[in-house]
Amino acid sequence: MSFDRIVGQEHVKAQIGAWLSAERMPHAVLVSGPEAVGKRHLAVELAKAVNCRRGSDPCDQCSSCLKIDSLSHPDFHTLLPLPSGSAKLDSAQVLTGLREATLAYLQKEEPVLRNSNIAREHIRFIHREMSYAPTEARRRIAVAFDADCMHRAGANSLLKILEEPPKQAVFILVSAHPERLLPTVLSRTQRLHLKPLTREELTRQIMNEGVEAPRAELAARLSGGSLYRARELVEDRDGLFEERRQLVECFIEAGFNGEDGEYWPIAEEFGGRSERGRLEAFLRLCGVYLRDLFMLAEQRPDDLVNTDRSNRTAAWLEKIRPGRIESAALEVDRAFDDLSRNVDSKLILAGLWNGLRHCRRSSPAPSSSRSHP
Ligand SMILES: [Zn+2]
Repeated sequence: MSFDRIVGQEHVKAQIGAWLSAERMPHAVLVSGPEAVGKRHLAVELAKAVNCRRGSDPCDQCSSCLKIDSLSHPDFHTLLPLPSGSAKLDSAQVLTGLREATLAYLQKEEPVLRNSNIAREHIRFIHREMSYAPTEARRRIAVAFDADCMHRAGANSLLKILEEPPKQAVFILVSAHPERLLPTVLSRTQRLHLKPLTREELTRQIMNEGVEAPRAELAARLSGGSLYRARELVEDRDGLFEERRQLVECFIEAGFNGEDGEYWPIAEEFGGRSERGRLEAFLRLCGVYLRDLFMLAEQRPDDLVNTDRSNRTAAWLEKIRPGRIESAALEVDRAFDDLSRNVDSKLILAGLWNGLRHCRRSSPAPSSSRSHP
């Protein structure tokens, strides 16, 4: 990948270009932006650009680019949150251990597991490595992925490095939650902020990849500005996406009808911890449907996402009290909050379910309790 294969984010590419052409690469860069917009890959491309032997747009062919891509460059290091309780890597294993974990991490855009942290020992180890002169590149570069996932001690170690960065060292911090970084760390970084892609950018890109227009548009609308998610949606060859839509429709409709018997089989779908990703996708889709409902209530049918389901959504509108739609949508936000706080999946669903039930025209006033149905 090189910069022109990163879709959109022109402001970020321009900034990087300006740094490199003026030979004023900062010692510390923060790559921020929402989940799944390509921060991880941008960080790696930036590292390649800094050290590419052929220019400042990574060529993908020189030995430096190739080694960074395979994470085997002696002057390129990575830090990654690992689940607490996972075996500590001792110094002999740190580099290979982190390399393997990072290769797997770069394959996907999934958030790191909760309770994962960048180990303080790893930060110290990388600090030591970074203090040596580069062996073959112009700069030694360390990328800390999900840099906000570290304990106080780790954050302080990181701060120490950034206070007196070794000459020829570049630190790239990647974070979707920069507000969780120490202000003193933040103030020492130059920010590259990635934005969600626009619907037009996504549609155009997905169509360029050979997908027909209506499907590309739907994926773009459902992806929340993430090319990664949009691709996932169009690659739905097994009909999983359609299945998921039906499950969400069934859940919302039964909630509006107050059919508690329908709740349990759906709740059973999201049992274990491994199902978090699926639950997240389910909730995102619930949010899209409730937004559609809101748009219909506001008489803005052109803003619907699930345009092919407008009849069904319109029928829901008959069943609910108009003033409650917004609060049902807020339940989805609350569910996402709970998800990030690692609340049990079934409790999250139960909360959302109660929110839906309370939208019914015939339902009693909502209570604040979040008990199971
Ligand atoms: Zn190169």
